[in-house]
Amino acid sequence: MGNLSYRMIYIGGAPAGLLGVDELFNVLFEAGMTPGDENLGEKLIKGVKKHNFVPKPAIKDYQDVLLREYLKYYHARTGGEAPVTRDYGQWEGYPREHIPWFPTVSEELCNGCGKCIEVCPKDVFQPMENGKVMVIEPFLCIVGCCFCKSACDPKAILMPQREMLDQYRHGQMHAT
Ligand code: SF4
Ligand code: SF4
Repeated sequence: MGNLSYRMIYIGGAPAGLLGVDELFNVLFEAGMTPGDENLGEKLIKGVKKHNFVPKPAIKDYQDVLLREYLKYYHARTGGEAPVTRDYGQWEGYPREHIPWFPTVSEELCNGCGKCIEVCPKDVFQPMENGKVMVIEPFLCIVGCCFCKSACDPKAILMPQREMLDQYRHGQMHAT
């Protein structure tokens, strides 16, 4: 238990420290679990709950983040690379990962047209085996940009309200 890995992930913009995620990913990978598996989300939550408290109202958020992280892990392992921790830089003096600005894709509404991938200047999206797209690198998203949202005909992409950024611009968040 004392030797479990520790990983910071961002749930709805707030950091959460999770124990044993790397071990869980490894077990699932070794068991042949692909990112498109319909039971993956459930298995991730079940595995994470073994060593961490997951608040009930946040289960969906945890699941989305864990699915994304597993997809990255899976690609790194299948590509033979060791998973890397990226530096996402800063925005207005804050680590980029502290700014909850990134698209959220509705799996239900997405038709897999790929327009979001075409218009995005960064590698935020990734096509999935199930024909939809997934946000795989949310913190590469350019703060304030909304290109993909405008390009998405079925309105499957949600972006935060721009006003949310004001509190960061005016330094109000530095008070903590
Ligand atoms: S533009 Fe919208 S519908 Fe098309 S792939 Fe992207 S999220 Fe899905
Ligand atoms: S908002 Fe802009 S940078 Fe962010 S994902 Fe969409 S197109 Fe890419």
